[in-house]
Amino acid sequence: MGKVLGIIGGGQLGMMLTEAAQDLEEISKIIVLDPTENCPAAKVGAQQIIANFKDEDAIKKLSELSDIITYEIESGNSDVLKQLEVHTEINPSPDTLRIIQDKLLQKQFLKENNIAIAEFEKIENKVELIQIIDKMGLPVLLKTRRDAYDGRGNYKINSKSEIDDALDLFSGKSLMVEKFVRFEKEISVIAARNTKGEIATYPVVENIHENNILRTTIAPGRVSENVKKQAEQIAEKTMEVLHGAGVFGIEMFVTYDDEVLINEIAPRVHNSGHHTLQSCNTSQFEQHLRAILGMNLGESSIKHPTIMYNILGPGTFQGEYNVLCKKSENIYLKMYGKLESKPQRKIGHVNIVDKENLGIDELFNQIEDLKKNLVIEPKQT
Ligand code: AMP
Repeated sequence: MGKVLGIIGGGQLGMMLTEAAQDLEEISKIIVLDPTENCPAAKVGAQQIIANFKDEDAIKKLSELSDIITYEIESGNSDVLKQLEVHTEINPSPDTLRIIQDKLLQKQFLKENNIAIAEFEKIENKVELIQIIDKMGLPVLLKTRRDAYDGRGNYKINSKSEIDDALDLFSGKSLMVEKFVRFEKEISVIAARNTKGEIATYPVVENIHENNILRTTIAPGRVSENVKKQAEQIAEKTMEVLHGAGVFGIEMFVTYDDEVLINEIAPRVHNSGHHTLQSCNTSQFEQHLRAILGMNLGESSIKHPTIMYNILGPGTFQGEYNVLCKKSENIYLKMYGKLESKPQRKIGHVNIVDKENLGIDELFNQIEDLKKNLVIEPKQT
């Protein structure tokens, strides 16, 4: 008899976890908790509890109905999950979630474990911020500690004249400050640890952001052997010190001196791992389920170089939409079933897979071609 899997969050990550779970006989049913009626995971067959991610009663209900709980978002209620942990298996562990969901605790944890990160400090008020800027030098990033994603909780302070604006923007929120890293590249490693303690990492990938939102992932990343080695070591060390099982997305900076620093860890499957759906034998979604179910981890090497390109809602309209995309044998389109397109909203992605060893430059040419032919237009009613 398979287990009932509960997932907090039923967006695109929850949807792709649901699809992977449907292929595993170890799981008999999937229930997601998500505030949006008919969320992407529900559309592909998960049962849904419609409620806010932090709703205590809804999380309790999910735990009563599930044998094992996981999540696709880091902003869940780690206090409630901690209480429920005694009778429902929850992975990654609520303690790990509590550390990761607060950027300051996360950075303190990494520092205590001697993992390379940018210089950072906690700040409580303007006087402290000025003192830290005097010590660190400009520019710095003022960051909200919680519930920030796609760069929304960050303000780059280039001159002291911007301090008031930065503090006003985040008024009432707990904050930290971080030295601005002049990086050459952003990379990431998707890593997994199962409940038996086995660790597997996927090859380092390169990430290109536009307006703070991930746009393109190149797998494997175009980095030196030295950078590759550092990134792998950092990922393995991080997995050794974090508690709980599952897949983690570890985002890193590569400096112009080839130094690798962690930017941030996501305690969940990650956008920069979507290439694994076609590039690897085991997708990150299957790997996450294998990890939390205590199965052996799957093979994580890249069979075919792949570029993942996110499809974002155009800035010109909000509402129901049609997508037109040129078909090609090596282009895999994955739409997330979101009813409405909104400017900059992630509504799907494509994986462009190099099965014929054409090389990364040719994949980039195909992306340029695709950009011209990919049309997201308002649905005519
Ligand atoms: P975050 O939401 O903190 O991961 O930040 C979103 C993006 O902001 C990252 O992908 C980086 O491009 C940039 N960023 C974050 N922290 C720093 C930093 N300390 N120095 C330079 N850029 C940063």
